[in-house]
Amino acid sequence: MHEIRIAEDLSLIVLDTARKENLSKVTKVNISFGQLIQIVPDIFEFAFREIVRNSVVQDAEIDIEIIPVKMKCKNCGSDFLVKDNLFACNVCSSTDVAIIQGKELFIKSIEGE
Ligand SMILES: [Zn+2]
Repeated sequence: MHEIRIAEDLSLIVLDTARKENLSKVTKVNISFGQLIQIVPDIFEFAFREIVRNSVVQDAEIDIEIIPVKMKCKNCGSDFLVKDNLFACNVCSSTDVAIIQGKELFIKSIEGE
């Protein structure tokens, strides 16, 4: 259930930003998660809503974007998106690969008034 810890961290950032920007109401929070973070969006949103209850963020729409896992083959140098959890190069089948995308965890933007 790491969604709860992540929701706590991100809600602090949103609340802090809302305070700095003098927002009376946050209307939308756009969040990006890499697929490797393995977030369950429903659990995350539930936890997030519990934490921001009675704050300027309580009615915000939560938009979650999942970023696919991308790897680079160290053998032939090609970039590829991981499908079906198959962590091998789709050109040369090498398993000597590096993750170059998919571990992201950030707030893309906050909308408010
Ligand atoms: Zn390759």
